[in-house]
Amino acid sequence: MNLNKNYENLEQSYLFSTVAKKVNEYISKNPDKKIIRLGIGDVTRPLCKKVIEAMHKAVDEMGVQATFRGYGPEQGYDFLREAVQKYYKTHNVDLELDEIFISDGAKSDLGNILDLFGEDNTVLVPDPVYPVYVDTNIMAGRKVVFADANGENGFLPMPDENIKADLIYICSPNNPTGAVYNREQLKVWVDYARKLGAIILFDSAYECFISDTELPHSIYEIEGAKECAIEFCSLSKMAGFTGTRCGYTIVPKTLGKLNKMWLRRQTTKFNGVPYIVQRGAEAVFTPEGQEEIKENINYYKENARIISDTLKRCNIRHVGGKHSPYIWLKCPNNMKSWEFFDYLLENAQVVGTPGAGFGRNGEGYFRLTSFGSKENTAEAMQRFEKLFG
Ligand SMILES: *Cc1c(COP(=O)(O)O)cnc(C)c1O
Repeated sequence: MNLNKNYENLEQSYLFSTVAKKVNEYISKNPDKKIIRLGIGDVTRPLCKKVIEAMHKAVDEMGVQATFRGYGPEQGYDFLREAVQKYYKTHNVDLELDEIFISDGAKSDLGNILDLFGEDNTVLVPDPVYPVYVDTNIMAGRKVVFADANGENGFLPMPDENIKADLIYICSPNNPTGAVYNREQLKVWVDYARKLGAIILFDSAYECFISDTELPHSIYEIEGAKECAIEFCSLSKMAGFTGTRCGYTIVPKTLGKLNKMWLRRQTTKFNGVPYIVQRGAEAVFTPEGQEEIKENINYYKENARIISDTLKRCNIRHVGGKHSPYIWLKCPNNMKSWEFFDYLLENAQVVGTPGAGFGRNGEGYFRLTSFGSKENTAEAMQRFEKLFG
């Protein structure tokens, strides 16, 4: 018996455990202080009514002989794939039904897609980044190179012609920085990928936070992207499905074998998303569902606006917050990420996430999220203003 030795090459992730440990220590020493958590990477608003109704109805169907369902299609029921197809159409993207694969979320598919690629591929990942991209490739023994996202490029790295990448990760709007690529920038990435015969793995988990009509929600809005990109999206941040689990992956048939390979992979290793959840997801794409989820997204965006406005008044440099629930700020007074974490906890009882935990280029930066309540966000920002205003 041999173990997968690649696991030994994973870096231990201490980020969220260290945050929790420091906060608990602080609470035990200062039990009467009110902590405000703006480090949350999870939604907090409940599922919308339309979704709940659809899921209740589906539960009832499951208890009746005539409407009971067992195994469903691995790639998702047609009713949901058609809803996703229509949704893409609103962004002027035409997809065929068999290019749409329903999943239990973007994280699993981002990892699972790597089944389709050889070990010897060079993987290009932005830094700082959502840790899943790096770790899933390390587990498979692939070489990872980084594209620096930093203050100079507005946290939107562009291709380096000297790097011969095979797999390219792009997350836009970005977690953790909240930065978002425009059409021209994505076109440069698409052209670069096509020239190299590389595949872009495009994570659009935050597309529904985009407020500017000029910015692309899907990479397929860019000419040539269907020849070089796979897209991952999720209802997690869009509709509060982080605990309910549903997403979708687009593998265009113009990518050649990959579409059939992904179907084969899914039918072999995956048995689909629960019928009840897919009915809930379908409801998200109805006009009423869209209205209701927009209320929640706007609630978070209002928090992001409060944070961003406060930082502006305090002259704290930051990106994000406009098309994303994340605000990525430069730590004041050149503090390091963890230094600022301690300072903020000690002096304002506000908890955020040290940027250093997302990669080398995250050092000296800090992530705040808009997933808290409006009251808490406003109070946290008053405390910020007292300290830095
Ligand atoms: C939250 C998030 C996802 C969504 O993951 P799910 O598995 O669908 O919950 C995907 N990508 C990024 C960058 C995220 O932050």
